[in-house]
Amino acid sequence: MAKDKKLVSEITSMDEDFAQWYTDICKKAELIEYTSVKGCMVIRPYGYAIWENIQHILDTTFKELGHENVCMPMFIPESLLQKEKDHVEGFAPEVAWVTHGGSEKLEDRLCVRPTSETLFCEHYANIVHSYRDLPKLYNQWVSVVRWEKTTRPFLRSREFLWQEGHTIHATAEEAIEETERMLNVYADFCEKSLAMPVVKGKKTESDKFAGAVSTYAIEALMHDGKALQAGTSHYFGDGFAKAFGIEYTDKENKRVNPHQTSWGVTTRLIGAVIMTHGDNSGLVLPPAVAPIQAVIVPIAQHKEGVLDKANELLNELKAAGIRVKLDDSENSPGWKFAEYEMKGVPVRIEIGPRDIEENQCIIAVRYSGEKKTVALGDLDVYVKALLEKEIPEGMFNKAAENRANRTYTCTSLDEITKALEEKGDGFVKAMWCGDEACEDEIKEKTGVGSRCIPFEQENLSDKCICCGKPAKHMVYWGKAY
Ligand code: AMP
Ligand code: ZN
Repeated sequence: MAKDKKLVSEITSMDEDFAQWYTDICKKAELIEYTSVKGCMVIRPYGYAIWENIQHILDTTFKELGHENVCMPMFIPESLLQKEKDHVEGFAPEVAWVTHGGSEKLEDRLCVRPTSETLFCEHYANIVHSYRDLPKLYNQWVSVVRWEKTTRPFLRSREFLWQEGHTIHATAEEAIEETERMLNVYADFCEKSLAMPVVKGKKTESDKFAGAVSTYAIEALMHDGKALQAGTSHYFGDGFAKAFGIEYTDKENKRVNPHQTSWGVTTRLIGAVIMTHGDNSGLVLPPAVAPIQAVIVPIAQHKEGVLDKANELLNELKAAGIRVKLDDSENSPGWKFAEYEMKGVPVRIEIGPRDIEENQCIIAVRYSGEKKTVALGDLDVYVKALLEKEIPEGMFNKAAENRANRTYTCTSLDEITKALEEKGDGFVKAMWCGDEACEDEIKEKTGVGSRCIPFEQENLSDKCICCGKPAKHMVYWGKAY
């Protein structure tokens, strides 16, 4: 038992030091390892398997909606990056440059893609000629590099894995529809597959993507009350098309510019899962992306019949399509309990001699800590229902409750300060006139920045919380990762 205790006590309590708790989970659950390059991590097999599950679910949805995967180069010539003024200004501070090939200095230095709008635009200029060529609904699964100053595993790394969708359409209406459709895809994925509630909305002008007409985002609230931008979808209008000379001949035989979008989610989502659902025993994974959905731990496994029965259950659950593991290693059951709790496995099944006699097993649910005795007939049906319905719904509700407890409606700057002081960090809902000066002043005086202008608006008052002039929007504010 001493060994079990040690394993668990090795992670810092989240109430004591949330940042250290997060890092401890990343390491102890074997998700990542640091490398000699700051901000670049090894994503270990268990962490990568979570990413593969995220990829699989999203990629299936993208393809159902008619998107095709492509692969662009990882380098962007400086001359190409500079074609769209706002875009280059926005990204210049965080790009990494390749200046030499071998010992030869490059004439046009190459940046390692921080995002690939420019590459897609160059390509679209080559392949889009007529309205018949539109739309193109492209996506790629690659890594990008942004030279971030402060870094943190998954949440903000210098190289990160992502998908970037880039679409090009005949009309603005179609492109706007695509921008919204993909934001909804992200929101559904977060809520159903990651059991993480999100707010859908529009970014303010000061916070939008470099070169976009408008940026939409999904914002989540982490366990500690800090906000996290979990995904973005951008509408570009025809600005990039004009800058890159993309034109097509429309049905009236006129030459016109098409309209574009881009959208992306990254390995940051793994960080979001850790910070939304994790607890002091470690990671808590939503079943849809858990590499192991159920683990079978035999009790007194040396006794006759125990491992046979455990293997029987293993095969039954496997046949039902459940990602299940039997741990028949020499470690003690207590050690195994702690280990799979740390790894966030949603369901643990204990089976021992006495259970076998009674034709039952014990099921422990990771997120709630609940333990139940369950009859062995139809165990597959029971576990499937847990994984597909009860656990994701329960996890979602728990996260939504935390968010509700940490969402404050405020009508003055003092109220914001007071709420944050008394109840801790969280989302603040407050009215805003739309003026950037007020946005800056609110941040300066209270510490919370605008997260998004939610699609679901509420009229909390008629006045801007900062200047008192007529309010244009209700905004979600918060401190962000
Ligand atoms: P963007 O292309 O800037 O809209 O970024 C797309 C998404 O990537 C954002 O919504 C973030 O969730 C995520 N993201 C941005 N920077 C990083 C980073 N350094 N590490 C991981 N994820 C990031
Ligand atoms: Zn104002």
